Amino acid sequence: MAIKQLLKRTSGWLYLNSPVGRHQLHGAGVILMLHRVLANDRAADLPHRNELCVGPKAFAHLLLWLKKHFDCVPLMEILQPGDFQSERPKVALTFDDGWRDNALNAFPLLKKHQVPASIFLSTDFIGNRQRFWWESLGETLWHSHGEKARTHLIECLQEVGRPLPVLLDDLDVQRRSLALSRFLQSLKTLPVDVLNWLTDQCPDESLPQALDWHQVRALEASGLVRFGPHGASHAILTSLDDQRLDEELSRSRNALLNGCNRPLPVYCYPNGNHDARVREHVANHDFPFALGTVAGIYRGMGDPLALPRIGISHRTACNPQLLSWRIYRGARP
Ligand SMILES: [Zn+2]
Repeated sequence: MAIKQLLKRTSGWLYLNSPVGRHQLHGAGVILMLHRVLANDRAADLPHRNELCVGPKAFAHLLLWLKKHFDCVPLMEILQPGDFQSERPKVALTFDDGWRDNALNAFPLLKKHQVPASIFLSTDFIGNRQRFWWESLGETLWHSHGEKARTHLIECLQEVGRPLPVLLDDLDVQRRSLALSRFLQSLKTLPVDVLNWLTDQCPDESLPQALDWHQVRALEASGLVRFGPHGASHAILTSLDDQRLDEELSRSRNALLNGCNRPLPVYCYPNGNHDARVREHVANHDFPFALGTVAGIYRGMGDPLALPRIGISHRTACNPQLLSWRIYRGARP
């Protein structure tokens, strides 16, 4: 292990286990951000999946580690704490987008370890076969759907002025996956209709990518999971004019009100993007809280419409001591 990593792990561990660290975290809450739990750890370990995916073994390992150091609580217990304050710091799990694997792979482990979680749905995707572009493009370029589909997509990418980098033909799997990850990041600047067109060029997966409402209600009925909105179409809210922003917020809010018994009063910004105008619109749609992606821990202060979170990658889930380092950084004044 690299010296730097070892230092981070050790100082993170010392922080969580020292009186100073415990004092700093008293009354504070850590909100973790996850996206997907895949069916196997090896798939999640590749760089182009690592940031947004966690393997099942790594996820179980993370849950056990969290239970050892924290009180694992529902998100609202951090945002609106009751009178009872435990000595231990609190942690709440959040999942973005509404991936089907949250029900298939994450929930059985949450249930086994009795750890609550909140899932934020991009509501247009729930209960149909609409697809998240980065997943469809990423997996097609990764050969998951065969050479013919890959070649066709590469031609389409050339047509929209985004030729595939040479590195994507590298023989080394890790380097090729890293190059794909960077290429997908660079596509974020393409217009939405172009991204949707490219997604349509990718073959259909055997299962829908997102949860359906039946699964949503079953998870909610377990008492362990609650749901909130993460946009309707996953459009970047700061890029929308006032009218489209309001449509996006109303549509996602109404879908949650129709589809769940007790949706959370918490909005979750797609891609974490928000500004003063977006926050004002979110507040006008009756959301007192909203989650961003800026790293940090929550102490009941700061703007409740710009709540910090700490992202969990597969690598972090495998080495949760790295998480204590990030909490330490987030907790420093
Ligand atoms: Zn998202």
